[in-house]
Amino acid sequence: MYKVLFTSDYEIHGSGMGSPRELVVEPTTRMLDQFDRYGAKLTIMADIGEILRFKEYAERTGVDRFHHGEIAEQLRRAVRTGHDVQLHVHSSYFNATLDETTGTWKQDWEEYDLASLSYDRLREIIARGKAYLEETCRPASPGYRCFAFRAANWSMHPSPNIVRALADEGFTVDTSVWKYGRYDDLVKFDYTTAHSDLIPWPIDASDVCRRDPSGRLFEFPIYTEQQPLWVFLTANRVYRVVAQRLNPLPAPSVPDPMAGRASPTAPSSFRAKIAGKLGMLLRKHPWKMDFNQCTGKQLIDGLLRVEARYGHPEAPLPFVLIGHSKTFTKHNERILRPFLEYVAAHPDRYGFGTFADFDPERYRDGLASARKPAGRSALAHAAE
Ligand SMILES: [Zn+2]
Repeated sequence: MYKVLFTSDYEIHGSGMGSPRELVVEPTTRMLDQFDRYGAKLTIMADIGEILRFKEYAERTGVDRFHHGEIAEQLRRAVRTGHDVQLHVHSSYFNATLDETTGTWKQDWEEYDLASLSYDRLREIIARGKAYLEETCRPASPGYRCFAFRAANWSMHPSPNIVRALADEGFTVDTSVWKYGRYDDLVKFDYTTAHSDLIPWPIDASDVCRRDPSGRLFEFPIYTEQQPLWVFLTANRVYRVVAQRLNPLPAPSVPDPMAGRASPTAPSSFRAKIAGKLGMLLRKHPWKMDFNQCTGKQLIDGLLRVEARYGHPEAPLPFVLIGHSKTFTKHNERILRPFLEYVAAHPDRYGFGTFADFDPERYRDGLASARKPAGRSALAHAAE
């Protein structure tokens, strides 16, 4: 059984610009409404850095300029109706100040790279985020717990401080790693050697990529494939590039989340430029399964490839997809539909879920012991 997990990073533009109502609340309402029609579950990864700033602004001024009330109500709606809310942290917002004229949040670039912060600072930030989400969501769902985490810019390198801080705050799941992913800029990580692209593992505190059978925190990776450029090129990816160009970060050279890899150094001559472009087309790139950028057909194909590779072991396997409310357009809503229909139509092989549906302990010793022979091959299913 494959459990499809839709995780959505719930945040305004990385530049600190934009209306939370337009970029977060409105698209997430459409997402929840659409998912409800298919029994799909959304896991909102709420960026607590900015939400706490919005809340504080409303309390200090008496004006809810950043729609904190609507945000809190939306988080409660989600948990009340079987969706989930978990912790996402952009640490650069904790000391952010507001430019009152433009409504832009000036972030603290010293705290941009989450994983490089001290253990004490990380523990404080994580504890505040967890406390806020539990206070906000428990009135709607008394059993609600915050136990899963995604780092800003997927930054879990260096690992020791952040892994220990999360485990000490009672977290059992991290979902930041995407195999093959690499950044070497304001944040630096290299997930080339990640233990798996799909199967959760107990994390070695010295390196999130490595498996340690005694680890306290489990990695549920965002499913990623190495494919040539054209396999995942869609109108939505182009839209996202344009959106990012229109809302650049004020800091110099920050990682482009579109690229999903370290930027190559610019070639000097014209010929080198052409060769570089050709190489770019031919080379394989890591593509996260992004439900705001892939078409429904691309998502179905990805799920079938996973099923063909991993079969049906006894333990359910998480197919973790990522999205961003700010890129969930009406067009995206339309092209996602075939995937929702496909998963809903095959309840014998797939289901929708949240992290609470998994017992991480089942992955502590790897899957080999839990694997049993599949009846029909996944490729036979694929032909249906
Ligand atoms: Zn984010």
